[in-house]
Amino acid sequence: MRQQIVAGNWKMNKTLQEANTLASEVMAMVADEVKGDAKVIFCVPFPYLVPIKNQLGKNSRIFVAAQNCSEHESGAYTGEVSAVMLKSMDIPYVILGHSERRQYFGENGSLLAKKVDAVLKQSLSPIFCCGEPLEIREKGTHEQLVKQQVEESLFHLSAESLQKVVIAYEPVWAIGTGKTATAQQAQDMHEVIRKHIAGKYGQPVADNISILYGGSVNAANAKELFANADVDGGLVGGASLKSREFTEIIKAI
Ligand code: PEP
Repeated sequence: MRQQIVAGNWKMNKTLQEANTLASEVMAMVADEVKGDAKVIFCVPFPYLVPIKNQLGKNSRIFVAAQNCSEHESGAYTGEVSAVMLKSMDIPYVILGHSERRQYFGENGSLLAKKVDAVLKQSLSPIFCCGEPLEIREKGTHEQLVKQQVEESLFHLSAESLQKVVIAYEPVWAIGTGKTATAQQAQDMHEVIRKHIAGKYGQPVADNISILYGGSVNAANAKELFANADVDGGLVGGASLKSREFTEIIKAI
């Protein structure tokens, strides 16, 4: 179902003590302000999933998420974490295909399709990331690449399954660089993604999918980005590590 979402991607940051402090500061500031259908998701390192989940308590609009998971269900895969395990811990969301996973861990479209299947099989929702590097944007083939990323990893799904996926458009040149896409650039690509989905699954299915923007979202630019018709919220890296800034971004939704 299409929803407004602000997700904070902590990446590999914070000690457990610092993580507890950050989560409790944000909660204290926003607990009463997440209105309507808007959701807040804390995407935390694996070891912090349960402690942070316990700390956040029961709130129908505030969740924790993993930042990755294995395509396998169980077995001899040292160091990996499966969707089955996440399900058993009651973790509802998993980021898949973040550009750092694609770049540093060689994750490609077909592997990500398997991870998407593994996550959906457990009735969890993938937060599927796509986005082009700078050289592709400069060549002008960014729309083609992003459509291909979505196609390769998601277009084997049924319409019903696809609607459980949250898509995050994250231009690689904007991640952690302080260089945000303009509101127009974000809207344009989100519209391209939605139209591409509509072309295969029909407009009602495309209209039912949340597409988040990620790439140097901060308290100053969130409102303008989120105001676009096809931008349903944000996936926030660096700014999600600062409680006041992240709270301002949540309020912008
Ligand atoms: C991210 O890591 O998903 C991200 C968007 O990072 P940042 O907000 O720091 O650019």
